Amino acid sequence: MRVPGVVFASHALLPEAAGDQALLQVVNVATLPGIVMASYAMPDVHWGYGFPIGGVAATDTASGGVISPGGVGFDISCGVRLLAAGDDRDALAPHRLRRLMDELGRCIPRGAGRGAVWQVGRAELEHVLTDGARYAVERGHGVARDLWRCEDEGVLPGADPGQVSDRSVERGLGQLGSLGSGNHFLEVQAVETVYDEAAAGAMGLRERQVCVMIHCGSRGLGHQICTDHVRTMDRAMARYGIEVPDRQLACVPVDSEEGRAYLAAMAVAANYARANRQLLSEAARRAFADTVGCGLDLVYDISHNLAKLETHQVAGAPLRLCVHRKGATRALSAGHPELPRDLAGFGQPVLIPGTMGTASYVLAGVPGGGAWHSTCHGAGRVRSRHRAAREVDGQQLRSELEAQGIAVRGTSWRGLAEEAPTAYKDIDRVVEASEGAGLCRKVARLVPLGVVKG
Ligand code: 5GP
Ligand code: MN
Ligand code: MN
Repeated sequence: MRVPGVVFASHALLPEAAGDQALLQVVNVATLPGIVMASYAMPDVHWGYGFPIGGVAATDTASGGVISPGGVGFDISCGVRLLAAGDDRDALAPHRLRRLMDELGRCIPRGAGRGAVWQVGRAELEHVLTDGARYAVERGHGVARDLWRCEDEGVLPGADPGQVSDRSVERGLGQLGSLGSGNHFLEVQAVETVYDEAAAGAMGLRERQVCVMIHCGSRGLGHQICTDHVRTMDRAMARYGIEVPDRQLACVPVDSEEGRAYLAAMAVAANYARANRQLLSEAARRAFADTVGCGLDLVYDISHNLAKLETHQVAGAPLRLCVHRKGATRALSAGHPELPRDLAGFGQPVLIPGTMGTASYVLAGVPGGGAWHSTCHGAGRVRSRHRAAREVDGQQLRSELEAQGIAVRGTSWRGLAEEAPTAYKDIDRVVEASEGAGLCRKVARLVPLGVVKG
C-alpha cells in the first residue's frame, strides 16, 4: 500500500466478513501509482468491479498518477436528479396517485430492452455526446433553469466522440431517455422532514411537498465505453511499468495517450447520462401535467460514478488531482465557484436514494468535507442480487409495499426481488455515519409514494 485505507463507517455498516471483498478492494486501490492521502470508503461501501462501490481515490496527475475505469464504474455518470412538484402530498388523493403512477408506468421506458423518450439518428446523437443536457434543452426538451441546476450545467467539457467505438454509439442510439434495469428507478416521493429550512428553501423544498427522484446512467453506451477502455489499458499497462494486484484495476497515467482518450470517452458517456435524465424529467413532467396538473422544477442533478480533474490543497500546496468517485457523491462546500449562484451559500445538494420501501435523503456539502469533498451515494448493498432474488418473492414484496401505501410499477418480479429493501443497508444509519464523519449534513428526508422500477 502506498497510502492508508480510510473507511468511514460504524461497525454495523462494515461490509459483512463472509463473501464481500470490499475492504480488500480498499487495500488494492491504495496501491495505485500516484494515489494521494488515502484510499477512502464511504459508509455505503460494498463489493464492486476493481474499486469498491463507495470508493474514492485521488491521484496526482503531474507525477504519473493513474486513471482507472474501475474507479468510475461501468455505468459512467450514473446519478440522481430530484424534481420538486407544485403540489403537496395532501393534494394527491389515492385515486389521483394511482392515475399518475399508471401514466408514469406507461410512459417511462425501462428494462434491458429498447424504448426511449427521444429517438435520435447518429448525427443528432453526436450533439448529445458533446453537449449533454444542454443540447436536449436547446432542442426543446426542458427549460434553461434545468441547466443551471445541473452539476457542470449539464455538460462535461472535453467530450470527444472520436474516442468512442461504433459499438458504443450503436448501443446508445435506441436508449436515449430510458431507465435501464432494476437498480434504476423513477420514484414519486414526499418530503417528510426538513432539517435545514434555509438550505431546503433555497433548493425549492418544503415539508409535505411531492417530489420525483430519477436514478439512471449512461445505459449500454457507458458500459461499452468502460469495456473498451479497460481492454486497452490492460494491454498498455506494462508499457508504463504499472503492476496492479487485481486486473480489474487496469489503469494508465492520466497524462498519457490512453488516459486522455479515456477521459474524453468518459465525458461522452457523462453527457449521454445527463441528457438521459433530462429526457426522463420531461416525460415525468408530461405525466404530471396530464394527470394531476402540476409542474416539476429541478432541484439538482448529480453523478455518483465519475472521475474529475480537480485542484485541492495538499500539505499547503495546490495539487491537480484526478478524483475517482465510484458510488460516491461530490459534496462541495458553500462558496465553491461551481455551485449554482442561488445555492452558493448552502453547499452542493447531494441526492441519496435509500430503497423503494424506505427513506431517501437530500444532503449538502460541508466546509472541510473529508475524502476530497465526497460522501455516500445510497444505502449500499448487503445482499447480492442473486441472494436477494433467492430469498425474496417479487410478487409478495409488491403486495407488502402496496399495503404500506407505496405504488409499484415494475418490469419483472425477479428485478423487483433483487432490489428489495432488505438487500440494502439501513439508509438512516448510512446518512448518520456520513454526517457524523464530517462528509455532509442533512437537509431533508423523503419517503416513497410510488416507484417505477427498471
Ligand atoms: P447504485 O448506483 O449503486 O446502483 O444504487 C444507488 C442506491 O440506490 C443504492 O445503494 C440503493 O440505496 C438505492 N436504490 C436502489 N433502488 C432504489 C429504489 O427503488 N428507490 C430508492 N429510493 N432507492 C433505491
Ligand atoms: Mn447505474
Ligand atoms: Mn447509480
